Amino acid sequence: MKEIKERISINDIVKRLEYLREFHGHLGPYIIMGARIAILSNKCLGDYPFKKYVKVYTGYSPPKSCPVDGIQFFSSCTLGKNNIEIVNEGISKAIFTLKNTKLIIELKAPINIPKNATQEEIGKIALKFLKLDDEQLFNVKILKL
Ligand SMILES: [Zn+2]
Repeated sequence: MKEIKERISINDIVKRLEYLREFHGHLGPYIIMGARIAILSNKCLGDYPFKKYVKVYTGYSPPKSCPVDGIQFFSSCTLGKNNIEIVNEGISKAIFTLKNTKLIIELKAPINIPKNATQEEIGKIALKFLKLDDEQLFNVKILKL
């Protein structure tokens, strides 16, 4: 069952990858990470664009800030609805809140992009990142408040 859910979520990203690229301007592992975090939040909390709130602990400049667009695109927590907050901590963690539930998603290991990587190489890293399971990528905690 879990495997099927995982497959559905990755297919969901793949189907909308071109829209995500148009929205964000390029595709790299950080935006894919944001997309994965958002889809995982939808799986754990449901898809409530007006009730869900997220605090994203990341950086203020690319590529660290790129996950923010993936999170906005797939979770519907957006700057326009004021249900997303960005905290400049240079890490990769998101805390979603819905009613009395808190969902903490943290990247297990930092993403390494070689300094002189070409867009093609970055794209390959992104694809590799896309294929990993949620369990390989993230530590997930659900807390009842
Ligand atoms: Zn980016």
